[in-house]
Amino acid sequence: MLRYQKILIVSVLLLVLVLILDYYYYVGIGWYAGIILVTIGLLAYGSIAIRSGFYSEVICSATSREKVITLTFDDGPDEKVTPQVLELLKKHNIQAAFFCVGSKVMHHPLLIERMDNEGHIIGGHSFSHHYLFDLFSYKKILEELVKTEKIIQRVIHKKITLFRPPYGITNPMLAKALRKMNYHVIGWNLWSKDTVIKDEQKLYERLIRKLGTVNIVLLHDNRMHLIPVLEKFIKFAKENNYRFKRLDYLLQIEAYA
Ligand SMILES: [Zn+2]
Repeated sequence: MLRYQKILIVSVLLLVLVLILDYYYYVGIGWYAGIILVTIGLLAYGSIAIRSGFYSEVICSATSREKVITLTFDDGPDEKVTPQVLELLKKHNIQAAFFCVGSKVMHHPLLIERMDNEGHIIGGHSFSHHYLFDLFSYKKILEELVKTEKIIQRVIHKKITLFRPPYGITNPMLAKALRKMNYHVIGWNLWSKDTVIKDEQKLYERLIRKLGTVNIVLLHDNRMHLIPVLEKFIKFAKENNYRFKRLDYLLQIEAYA
């Protein structure tokens, strides 16, 4: 049973308990309101905290004795940034995971063909990456996932099994669609904040500061300022005996069905 279901059950039981108490003694509306507000708060937290696994099992880390870094890139392919990321990865002989947006794949199929040819793996990241994606119905979300999977399959002739939720947000509709697609849902444990931190030095320092033993790093291959930072980060990691490992090898799962 997933956490949000447990929370709902506990909340309903607490409400029933308060109702019974209210029958014999006056309890007051504050208790009902309190339970409902705490429940809503917890469910909202579960929605934005990808590591909470409230709505869906999400893989955010792995165990390893050696120091490992797995690079993952969201929101591409981007015609300007993605080729530079690919050049950099080739130069350093690193294979990464790219969580691609279906509509962008449609416009830049050659870029995902190149990713595949150069040993990277590809996962889905919705078709539209719409800012209201998490309010879409189950049917609409499922359509997006199917469409993206088909577009990628048309180009690389492989059926994807990895998915990263847009904005890192999960909810019951998305979780249901992900189960239907039989996807592994992938999170991260090192959030670069490259979409927020524009200052290259600050971004680099954050990456270094947050490094642990096993690192699944969330990056975006549509942010040009990432390129010099990534180069420096790779250099630092190599000098400090980190090994770069592809996501599916680290997690010991299949990237394609
Ligand atoms: Zn995204």
